Formats: sequence, C-alpha cells, structure tokens
Amino acid sequence: MVNYKDLGLVNTREMFAKAIDGGYAIPAFNFNNMEQLQAIIKACAETKSPVILQVSSGARKYANQTLLRYMAEGAVEYAKELGWEHPQICLHLDHGDTFELCKSCVDFGFSSVMIDGSSLPYEENIALTKKVVEYAHQFDVTVEAELGVLAGVEDDVVAEESHYTKPEEVIDFATRSGCDSLAISIGTSHGAYKFKPEQCTRDPQTGRLVPPPLAFDVLAEIEKKLPGFPIVLHGSSSVPQEYVDIINTYGGNMPDAVGVPEEQLRKASKSAVCKINIDSDSRLAFTAAVRKVLAEKPGEFDPRKYCGPARDEMVKLYKHKIIEVLGSDGKAE
Ligand SMILES: [Zn+2]
Repeated sequence: MVNYKDLGLVNTREMFAKAIDGGYAIPAFNFNNMEQLQAIIKACAETKSPVILQVSSGARKYANQTLLRYMAEGAVEYAKELGWEHPQICLHLDHGDTFELCKSCVDFGFSSVMIDGSSLPYEENIALTKKVVEYAHQFDVTVEAELGVLAGVEDDVVAEESHYTKPEEVIDFATRSGCDSLAISIGTSHGAYKFKPEQCTRDPQTGRLVPPPLAFDVLAEIEKKLPGFPIVLHGSSSVPQEYVDIINTYGGNMPDAVGVPEEQLRKASKSAVCKINIDSDSRLAFTAAVRKVLAEKPGEFDPRKYCGPARDEMVKLYKHKIIEVLGSDGKAE
C-alpha cells in the first residue's frame, strides 16, 4: 500500500476548485511511454501548468501498470529538475471499469481514479460509483464518474452511438454516488475519427470536414443544476489537420480524420468544464514526426533519431493546448 502523497502527487480537488474559479481547464494527457511523459512534463514545467497524467487500460497492457506508476513518481522529480518548484501532478486512472481495478490503483499510489459505469443501467452506475468513492475517499483519492455515453473508439472503450447526458439526472447522480467530478457527453467523441462525414458539412474551399458543434445548451443546463461542480470532457482532441497532412504526405492514410475545433474547447474551458482529455492529438504529433523522419532519411535506424523529433513535436503540441486552448499556464507556480 502506497499513498500518493508520499510520491509527491496531488489529487484533483484543489486543482478543479481553482480551475472553476479561474475560468480555465486542467489538461488531462494520456501517456504510454517515456517520450510522451517527458514531453508532458517538459511542457507543463515550462508553462507552470497543473496536469493530470492519465493511464488507460490500453496503457496498462502496453507499458505495465507498475512501470507507469514509477514513471509518474519519477516525473515529479524530473519536473523539479526542470526548475518547476511546486509541481502539481495528478496520476489518474482513465476509464476504470471495475471496483477491483480502481482499488488496486488507489492502493498503488494513484491520486485519482475514474470509474466508468456509463454503459451500465443508471442505478448500477450509481451503486458502482458509490462503492469506489467510499473506498477512495478513505485515502483522499478523488473519483471521476461518467453519465451519458460518448461515441468513438479509445483503447478498449468502444461505443457506436453517443447519448447526451440528461441534465435532469445529474443532481441525483452526483449526490447519491458522491463522485468528485462528472464526465458528461455533449458531442465529443473518442479517437481521431470523431464524426462521420455524414454528420459534418464540408468546407468548399479546403474540402475538409466541418464537424457539428458541441451541445453547449446541454452543458449550460447541467451547470445550472450543479453550480460549481467539476465537469469533465473526454474525447477532446482537435485532430490538427497539419499533422494529418504530414501523415498522409509521408505514406500514411487517414482520410477524413476530424476532431473538436479548439475554439469550442476554449469556450468550454471557461465554464464548469475543468478537465479536458487529450490523447489522439499527441498520437498524431508523434506519428507525423516519425513518418517524416523515416521518409526523409530511409537509412535511419536509431530510434532516438525519430523518437527525439516526435518528443519535440509533442512538447510543442502540449504547450499550445495549455496556453492557447485550456488557459492553465501559470496556474501552478
Ligand atoms: Zn475517455
């Protein structure tokens, strides 16, 4: 049994309270490997942004949960080495699907867990969330729950259709489950293909897809029901077209990849939305950089020569998100 406080990590409670007051959102970046973690910490240290490091079930399978936890512990020390005096780093389980998994993460030093019971019937979602909350709160670990269903594919989380969160359910759900934050569905979606072409219009000049707007009316209703309660947006990558273009130019094939426009996320950040999950964009930055190096230098076989530029590209991406989209820079001096 390890408590996150001994690892120098923080939970989300104070982060979220400050973010709602200040009208910004905390970045929640997924990590699966060393380069990604280095890039996240470097970007956050340079901008003094609080950050949530997320571990998904896919990441646990790929990199091993034990190793990821030690990497997060190392990240706190790395942040200090980079001159970030008081790093505010949360280690969060993304899409936990059972009580046992959430418990094992709490016992193992995570400072926050998500229990995703969104695919269960309403009462079962409450019961499962409540069980996790009762366990986690004994150790001051914060719990994110989900109500409503996001479409798209992310690691093991797959849903064909989205169902918006019903505002009339949120008070009952939050009160009875005791969750600390709530992930809602208002039209964001997992993955790099967030919207089908038939859901979009097409820009006549560029030929690119223009996605449908998020349901800000649903968000506003939820905020009215739960004033000051932390709201979370999953599936909030923007799928930068410059990365898609580089990937497609250098041998990739990602037609009609489309995400959530950044101006909509900027708008959401100013509301009760205080955690925005971004994963696909960093995958795209990484892949674009790797494809470019390998295409331009076919003789290259040292992974550092293509993972290095990929890491640099991710640092740029994370800093852009922090400063230009979420507004979390300077919030963790
Ligand atoms: Zn998610």
